[in-house]
Amino acid sequence: MTCLKPENATPGKSGKDGRDYNPYDIMQPRTPEATPKDLRNGGRVKAENVPPTGVYLPNNNIQTPWMTSPDYVQISTAAAITLGIMTGNMYRCACTRCLNILLTYPEGCRANCAYCGLARHREAERDYADRNFIRVDWPATPMEEIARTVGKDPEGSPFHRMCISMITHPRSDEDTKTVLKTWTKHVDPDAIPISILSNPTTMTRKDVQDLRDMGSDIFTVALDAATPELFDRTRGKGVQSPHTWKKYWEIMLEAKDIFGPQKFGAHIIVGMGESESEILNLVQQLVDMGGHSHMFCFYPEQGSLMDHLPPTPRDQWRRVQLGRYLIDYCGVRVDHMKFDDEGRIIDFGLPSGELDAIIDAGIAFRTSGCPGKFAEDISACDRPYGDSPPSDIASYPFQPQKADLKRIRYQLDRQKPGETYEEGEEFEELDL
Ligand code: SF4
Repeated sequence: MTCLKPENATPGKSGKDGRDYNPYDIMQPRTPEATPKDLRNGGRVKAENVPPTGVYLPNNNIQTPWMTSPDYVQISTAAAITLGIMTGNMYRCACTRCLNILLTYPEGCRANCAYCGLARHREAERDYADRNFIRVDWPATPMEEIARTVGKDPEGSPFHRMCISMITHPRSDEDTKTVLKTWTKHVDPDAIPISILSNPTTMTRKDVQDLRDMGSDIFTVALDAATPELFDRTRGKGVQSPHTWKKYWEIMLEAKDIFGPQKFGAHIIVGMGESESEILNLVQQLVDMGGHSHMFCFYPEQGSLMDHLPPTPRDQWRRVQLGRYLIDYCGVRVDHMKFDDEGRIIDFGLPSGELDAIIDAGIAFRTSGCPGKFAEDISACDRPYGDSPPSDIASYPFQPQKADLKRIRYQLDRQKPGETYEEGEEFEELDL
């Protein structure tokens, strides 16, 4: 079986060794090492026992075991910049439209997912509040203060949505509800809708129902892996982690029932070893159930158990990004598409002119997630540079411009007649 790009394909956009997708065989995570006893469960932080003092920026190295949810949460760097808690600029983004909130504990997440910077095996190396999550730092801050700040003018806020991300911790189900309560005390959910990014392992149907009753609008399951085998390898027994495919699907079905059509879905990471056919069949399954999928491009997070593996080649990523958009929003079905022997898409199931128009509109290549206030297919959750560096953007956190679309067409091998592309030329063209 070959996984190399065909000889006549345009060079310079594929992965290591010219691969145009990440096959299962090479995407094997490292085995986690044992953590010394005194460093387990936030041992270092608890031993130092320093009281919290408001906002905590990663790498402050203040050992504060009381900086914990539900009183404290972590927020993305993009949200911290938008709120004015951190200074800085984001490449071609004035702000983020989603206030992403993450529960925080000195013990950290008790799961060990192979691709995640927050995973348990890192506790010897870095304290929880200093670990990076999907490429960026997450400063910790008092929840009440965030809710009060946004609550002063929710309608005028740059945020179109707020999302609470759960992690795996014995307290996370109850604390998610308390964080939600703190938020809704200050911010009307009709002004800024709420999403829950769930961790099903510890959840019951009642938890899902409570979160709906308390004002959240969309419930997503961080499935992440596209097949049961990959799930087990990257989030289950393969890495001494507690998650199971069965439990994640059980809670997904509860969410379908409780939240209803278009209000539930799954996060899926592209390029961890699944085929394009497998992942798009999953996308179709979710659409047939009435849900949506939100895609992430695999990025080898430093310090994770997959940091030695190649990021998703851009040609694979663009094909899947486009295929997912067609299934989710354009009425195309996976059975209209054609795949080669290695599961790669070779026909998107649409006449060429229609496909080109969708590519040129650019929305398919923006970050996918829960909608904001612009359009159903434009995600509020733009996660600036959460799955790639700005120099090689995977998910565009802004509307791609002419020069970006030229690069995208090149990555898709769908250039216009006579069109050429040189790596990096958009940076000159956009004069950035
Ligand atoms: S459960 Fe979520 S936060 Fe915890 S290790 Fe897995 S992916 Fe990371």
